[in-house]
Amino acid sequence: MAGRLVILDFDGTVFDTYAFYGDILKLLHARYQVNSYRFLQQIDRYTTTDDGGTYDFFGHVRATLPLPAERITADIKIALAGRNYVYADAARFLADGGGDATRTVLTVGEPSWQAFKFEFAAPIQPLTKLIIQVNKGDYLMRHLSVRPDGAMTVGPLAADYYREVSLVDDKTTTFEKVKPRAGLKLFRIKRPGEKYALLPAPSHVRDIAHLTDIA
Ligand SMILES: [Mg+2]
Repeated sequence: MAGRLVILDFDGTVFDTYAFYGDILKLLHARYQVNSYRFLQQIDRYTTTDDGGTYDFFGHVRATLPLPAERITADIKIALAGRNYVYADAARFLADGGGDATRTVLTVGEPSWQAFKFEFAAPIQPLTKLIIQVNKGDYLMRHLSVRPDGAMTVGPLAADYYREVSLVDDKTTTFEKVKPRAGLKLFRIKRPGEKYALLPAPSHVRDIAHLTDIA
């Protein structure tokens, strides 16, 4: 049996999505006179499910700006080249290699947009990254398999069995359908200023302020 499996959410847990969007909006405004307020208001229209939050940025750009989406994304890539939007505590957490812990990323989103964001998250490059379009808690429950000795694995995310599985997410709704069980540790990370940080997490979930707090 291997050590621990640590499943990390991406947006808002490892990646400062707000800072990333802020820089993109600044760029769209400066270069294409995009009204940031209106653009943000339109996001819901290009988001398929409320819970999954699958936002199609490229579709949004294609439908609302009079320029090819490829041109705009090329501009973003040049403007943000070399930038890293991984939170400082997440970068510190990932820098130590994890010891007996295997770290993976499980993220809900539109695959090409998530992959685009990964390019600005250098510290997660070596990790397995799985992009899904359903609620992460549902996914975990559906793919968690437990051996008679209590060791666990999570479907396509990991091949080995682990004595402990942790899930870290910033969104409280992720945990609503996750049933507590021995060896399954649930952490809600509170990012200051984020809307989810104001919501209480279920009682079987531990609140943390930094990713390094799960060690
Ligand atoms: Mg998140």
